[in-house]
Amino acid sequence: MDHSANLRCRHCGVTLASNLKPVEAGFKWVFDMQIDVVPSGRFAIGNGSYSGLTKDHIIVHLDDLKSLTRPPDDVGRGYGCCGYWDGHGPNLVCVCGAEIGFELSDCAAPRMAHFATTDVMLSRSDLRDAG
Ligand SMILES: [Zn+2]
Repeated sequence: MDHSANLRCRHCGVTLASNLKPVEAGFKWVFDMQIDVVPSGRFAIGNGSYSGLTKDHIIVHLDDLKSLTRPPDDVGRGYGCCGYWDGHGPNLVCVCGAEIGFELSDCAAPRMAHFATTDVMLSRSDLRDAG
């Protein structure tokens, strides 16, 4: 499957990231501090090797995201010394208000965002009105 896909909110349909391709064959999971887990423009499906929470989640690069805000109780949602962790509930909120994603961006965390497929979907970006 070489088609690009858009990451979209299942609750309202807004595009959260555009023209993503699957990670390349031979992709390896690396979870070092401050290292991007997937390259910009790519997505991967979590296999649970980082945490059970990420299993089967769609994992993307932080810089590819748009149309997202923070929950009202932001600081309680896993804010570390300078960025986010994913252990205290979703910390990425869609413009429609749905709490849909988990960002990891603290200096002691690998950098990524992950989303459950119950909250987001991937639809081919080269098809008009797809999905
Ligand atoms: Zn939404």
